[in-house]
Amino acid sequence: MATYSVVDKGECIACGSCGSAAPEIFEYDGEGLAEVIFEGDNNKGVTAIPENLQEELQEAIDSCPTECIKVQDAPFN
Ligand code: SF4
Repeated sequence: MATYSVVDKGECIACGSCGSAAPEIFEYDGEGLAEVIFEGDNNKGVTAIPENLQEELQEAIDSCPTECIKVQDAPFN
């Protein structure tokens, strides 16, 4: 099942784990803070992340030391 994801950048510590685990989903801004870039999402959480990337997404979530990667079944507003 597709899911939607955003990074709570206020809690991100720019550790670099998520982009290593899921480079198609996460990149870093000029301060090294992570954001969801999948298909131009721009960290809005409105782009469905497909089934074939769910494993990578979960690895990123599991690797995040501050639990600031949010995921849910419906788009974020
Ligand atoms: S794993 Fe978490 S804390 Fe580390 S860069 Fe990604 S979102 Fe930020």
